[in-house]
Amino acid sequence: MTRTYEEFPGVEWVEGAGQFIRVIEERCSGCANCVKVCLADCYEISGKKARIRDLDRCMECASCWYVCPEDAIAFSWPPGGTGFRTDWG
Ligand code: SF4
Ligand code: SF4
Repeated sequence: MTRTYEEFPGVEWVEGAGQFIRVIEERCSGCANCVKVCLADCYEISGKKARIRDLDRCMECASCWYVCPEDAIAFSWPPGGTGFRTDWG
């Protein structure tokens, strides 16, 4: 199934990717860098740990992985044909 959102014309998300981002809880210090950097609002802090609340709008930018000082985010791009797509390639 393909999802689109009115506020993001030209962008679609193709389901089937599964959980391609995971927080490694033992490493997470709760610094909230991932919450602040994610333009898609995918993270929240709960019990002093980052938690992925929704990957529906994830743009696969990997910013969360990049800004995590504890290497607590396991990121793998979804396999071909699923995930984030735009009209611009
Ligand atoms: S990859 Fe980008 S859009 Fe997806 S959760 Fe990380 S920061 Fe947010
Ligand atoms: S950036 Fe890393 S250490 Fe900081 S809250 Fe997010 S997952 Fe945890």
